[in-house]
Amino acid sequence: MKRVIITGAAGFLGSHLAKELVAKGCDVIGIDNLSTGLRANVRELEGKPNFRFVERDVTSIEPAIEPEFAGVTEIYHLASPASPKFYQASPLETIAANTLGTRNMLEVARCLQAKFLYASTSEVYGDADVHPQPEDYCGKINTWGPRACYYEAKRLGEVYCFEYYRIHQVRMRIARIFNTYSAGLRNDDGRVISNFLTQALNGEEITVYGDGQQTRCFCYVDDTVRGLQAMMESEAAEGQIFNIGNPADYTILEIAQLIKQMTASDSAITFCPLPADDPRQRCPSIEKAKQILGWEPKIDLEEGLRRTIAAYKRALAGETRDENG
Ligand code: NAD
Ligand code: UDP
Repeated sequence: MKRVIITGAAGFLGSHLAKELVAKGCDVIGIDNLSTGLRANVRELEGKPNFRFVERDVTSIEPAIEPEFAGVTEIYHLASPASPKFYQASPLETIAANTLGTRNMLEVARCLQAKFLYASTSEVYGDADVHPQPEDYCGKINTWGPRACYYEAKRLGEVYCFEYYRIHQVRMRIARIFNTYSAGLRNDDGRVISNFLTQALNGEEITVYGDGQQTRCFCYVDDTVRGLQAMMESEAAEGQIFNIGNPADYTILEIAQLIKQMTASDSAITFCPLPADDPRQRCPSIEKAKQILGWEPKIDLEEGLRRTIAAYKRALAGETRDENG
């Protein structure tokens, strides 16, 4: 049975990946400090013999004295706040998770000779002036804005990966993940799909930041998680960066209108101030992932939203039943 470590296992992507790997029969060790993740996300896994939850901070992992990691052959390093709301509330912790935390997990990979996948982000491209963004685009960013703690830490995390690859031959690969969604996002996560759906279904105002003309691409979680696994399985992915995202782009106003229409909501759409450094356009080139991994997303936005809305409605109905006893 393959032994795998997932850091950030109680988070949105980590818990989804853990469920997939446990279902495939892998022996999964999920590490998380529960800063933005929820124990409830791994509750159903905790009863399974091939899943173990370890409440730890990746910045305090010491590979030399961690016998419980013996036999691990794959490490998915996902631990980091991901929502702008959360990483801007904890900038120093975000920097530490992606720099010291990444170095610690690379040390674990070196000691165990395990394959390593680092969850980086499309944010490393910043307010890009190239569209769509290919992996060799260097980005347009600054060191002083509110997003810098996240994308600069991710960039240094990538540098650590490349140095461990060059110096210690750690078999790393880097996923630059673009906006991913499903019902698994926390309602208070602050990212756009969870905000708009929660607002639309509760009859609250839908809060579009700025004029809503900024664009994003949205990948359904199943596609992203399949992309991460394809990267881990591919030898050709070693030492490489891949964009993992859905290249169909939408303005944020279009997203608000689509969600309002698909939920048949009476909510009004309101315009709020645009946060500082909010990228205007973001869209992945996925040619490299298609060619080398044979990966591309299969679930379009409407289908992904249909599934997400159905799950939100089931959760709301459950809450109502609970309230009524
Ligand atoms: P999330 O916040 O739901 O999950 C992150 C998890 O990491 C949480 O469970 C949190 O408690 C844990 N964590 C944070 N710091 C930690 C630390 N120091 N030690 C141990 N655990 C720690 O976020 P997510 O959306 O699941 O994102 C997972 C990863 O993917 C992150 O690295 C993120 O940067 C990256 N990513 C996600 C997206 C996306 O759209 N979801 C996009 C780009 C990149
Ligand atoms: N956004 C919005 N209203 C919200 C939340 C987000 O208009 O309630 C916008 C945000 O300004 C950004 C886009 O939606 O332009 C995506 O935001 P998110 O936080 O989901 O991810 P980002 O791509 O900015 O990291």
